[in-house]
Amino acid sequence: MFEQVKLTYANDALEPYIDTLTVETHYGKHHVTYTKNFNDAVAKAGLEGKTAEEILGSLDSVADEALRKALRNNGGGYYNHNLYFECFSPNPAKAPTGALLTKINDKFGSVDALKEELTKLATGQFGSGWAWLSANKAGDIMVSASPNQDNPISEGTGFVPIIALDVWEHAYYLKYKNLRPDYIKSFFEILDWSKVEEKYNKIVG
Ligand code: MN
Repeated sequence: MFEQVKLTYANDALEPYIDTLTVETHYGKHHVTYTKNFNDAVAKAGLEGKTAEEILGSLDSVADEALRKALRNNGGGYYNHNLYFECFSPNPAKAPTGALLTKINDKFGSVDALKEELTKLATGQFGSGWAWLSANKAGDIMVSASPNQDNPISEGTGFVPIIALDVWEHAYYLKYKNLRPDYIKSFFEILDWSKVEEKYNKIVG
């Protein structure tokens, strides 16, 4: 059984950047539903025992189209939101250190420049979707965006996300209405770079 990550902060702890009702609805309703539907689809497909990464990385092996779609949408919904909610903190580290910082400086020039790239992708994602920072085993990093609940893992390039920026309206509409760029700015105020760095170091090993 797949389970949602436990929040390490109270529902109101991300105020004013993400409001209490949005956390309650996003984590307590949307993420709950993705998780339930993912577990149902996994059981139906007989994929119990596999990790979410393994399932999302081998969707093509599921022959039934409706089931493949259910795994893609709800598996993504489950996995993407775990990463999203895991990387927030009311007292976040404002920048990474070590190997990740070096890599970001090499590739993007600075952490701020990387944030700008992610902001561009997140703002430009038409309709619902995500912007990502991903890493591979060799330590390379890349930014990308995807529609719906799609995840870079499913592209089979070996990149695994370490930052998940949700730009579905359900992530911000209660507070920010149509102002997606304001929400994106707030996202970075509570993004805990120590968590991102932990993820990076784990992937690189
Ligand atoms: Mn969401």
